[in-house]
Amino acid sequence: MNRSPASKEAQDTSATHAFKVEHSANPLDEATREAALENPKFGSHFTDHMAIVTYTAERGWHDATICPRRPLMLDPAASVFHYGQEIFEGMKAYRTQHGDIVTFRPRENARRFRDSARRMAMPELPEKLFMQSLESLMACDHAWVPQGSGQSLYIRPFMIATEALLGVRPAREYQFIVIATPAGNYFDKACVDIWVTEHFARAAMGGTGAAKCGGNYAAGLMAQREAAEQGCDQVLFLDAATRRHVEELGGMNVVFVRDDNTLVTPRLTGTILPGITRDAITTIASYLNLAVEETQIAIDDIFEGAQSGRYREAFACGTAAVVSPIGRLKRRDHMVSFGDGENPGPITSSILANLTDIQYGRKPDPYGWVETLYRA
Ligand SMILES: *Cc1c(COP(=O)(O)O)cnc(C)c1O
Repeated sequence: MNRSPASKEAQDTSATHAFKVEHSANPLDEATREAALENPKFGSHFTDHMAIVTYTAERGWHDATICPRRPLMLDPAASVFHYGQEIFEGMKAYRTQHGDIVTFRPRENARRFRDSARRMAMPELPEKLFMQSLESLMACDHAWVPQGSGQSLYIRPFMIATEALLGVRPAREYQFIVIATPAGNYFDKACVDIWVTEHFARAAMGGTGAAKCGGNYAAGLMAQREAAEQGCDQVLFLDAATRRHVEELGGMNVVFVRDDNTLVTPRLTGTILPGITRDAITTIASYLNLAVEETQIAIDDIFEGAQSGRYREAFACGTAAVVSPIGRLKRRDHMVSFGDGENPGPITSSILANLTDIQYGRKPDPYGWVETLYRA
């Protein structure tokens, strides 16, 4: 893949970017914070600090800072507002039973962030800087990682084009920022119902489907609204060209469990976001005696197989949703359920348990996926 000159420059940055720390003068008091952590609602509270690093074409990445979380001051012509040069990542920090703060496969997020940047003609952020931003933020805000079952601190690294520019070209100035919000379960129900949209497409060949960019989400919101009108929790997108093959949900990958103990999930074709959770699940499958098929999946086959019992279970997977069992699939006026449509199936439950046991450090991590961000 072609690299822009800007990206090469970013890769060559060998200087260590120690973060300068400016502590918040008025962090949230402990009682209020603890109350917020009791039953965290995704995105309703944010930690006291944020990480911020500036990029200019002249200086590369510089001024790495941890500072109190505060509004940004940007020129109204900043190109992120007009042409949408924005990418992000989503990851979680977990509190282990020893009180350490760990995270899951962060270097995969760093790598994907560079891939997304390249696709959007943005500068690549070196892995070292990505990792340091997480560690430095956690050094300040580790008390914000909740310890309840299924709880974590969701970390949102993102990059925006900040150059004041109405001409159409890649910007020459950017900010990389990391914020974090305590998270509990993403859905407040055991199984989610999914609407299969035939009106809207998420990504086409040659487009930005494999990049984690805000624009993909904006393009999916109408389909998500359509799903809600149909009484569903999430939307499933089909391929843009034929509308016959399963791709993914708006922000999660999808996996079906076939009756021959096989996990069936769409092959990555460039229009699907390569989920790290998806990858982890296909890796631990063999340990659970499950085969994996990454293939083209006809939506008709899924409906037929759910009806006949050939497909017994299905789930959505991603960092925020972890493993969320799918109860029902609805398309036009057809509806099928997996199992009884209300309760997670045994294989889905076992995958969820095995994955989270590794993430929370409850079981050994044979793959080297867990990295410590802060030691108690
Ligand atoms: C982030 C994301 C996923 C899930 O990726 P994870 O690395 O597992 O969190 C899936 N689909 C889309 C569209 C996404 O943006």
